[in-house]
Amino acid sequence: MLSNKDTVKAIEVMGEKFPDARTSLKADTDFHFLLAVILSAQTTDKAVNLLTPRLFARYPLPEDLAAANLEEVIPFLRSIGLYRNKGKYIIACAADIVAKFNGQVPQTRRELMQLSGVGRKTADVVLAECFNIPTIAVDTHVTRVSKRLHIVPQKADVLTIEKILMKKLPEDLWIKAHHCMIFWGRYQCMARKPLCEECPLLLMCAEGQKRVL
Ligand code: SF4
Repeated sequence: MLSNKDTVKAIEVMGEKFPDARTSLKADTDFHFLLAVILSAQTTDKAVNLLTPRLFARYPLPEDLAAANLEEVIPFLRSIGLYRNKGKYIIACAADIVAKFNGQVPQTRRELMQLSGVGRKTADVVLAECFNIPTIAVDTHVTRVSKRLHIVPQKADVLTIEKILMKKLPEDLWIKAHHCMIFWGRYQCMARKPLCEECPLLLMCAEGQKRVL
């Protein structure tokens, strides 16, 4: 298992390779960012960014979207998968924000997770991006990279991965680590063909050494 010190080192190396690692979702308000994160499930940020300008212009505030019906909203979402369900979630989420939080996106995980369509990962992303509250949202890239580098046990579930990362990394690295690991998973340590031979982490990566040798 990778030590705490080497885990920090690995994140630093990732940060050197991808100094601009940050969210690619575009939004002008906390509410719109939350919608973008909900819409990004099982699709790319790029696909979400293509549709959100029209959606956001039509529904600037939670009150506007809460008052919409699904058939009105669906045409804005048709270009992404699961658009009907996502449409239901974002309308219900907006209604929850209006009814329970006075029209403001809440700033705690517990409250965020009371909103329709918001699970722990979405809540963590919103806390970090909108409110600069340290979290490590664990997605498919963070999971794969953590396991390949043996930062976590191979059978660790998402919650365990989050806890181990939070233990091994200082709090001021959590948000950066999330972004760096996503970029690492997208562009260096891809699911099918990781670039192990030219990987600066090869010497500390048991999985990479297995693949190269
Ligand atoms: Fe991923 Fe390969 Fe680098 Fe390990 S050596 S982190 S498996 S790309």
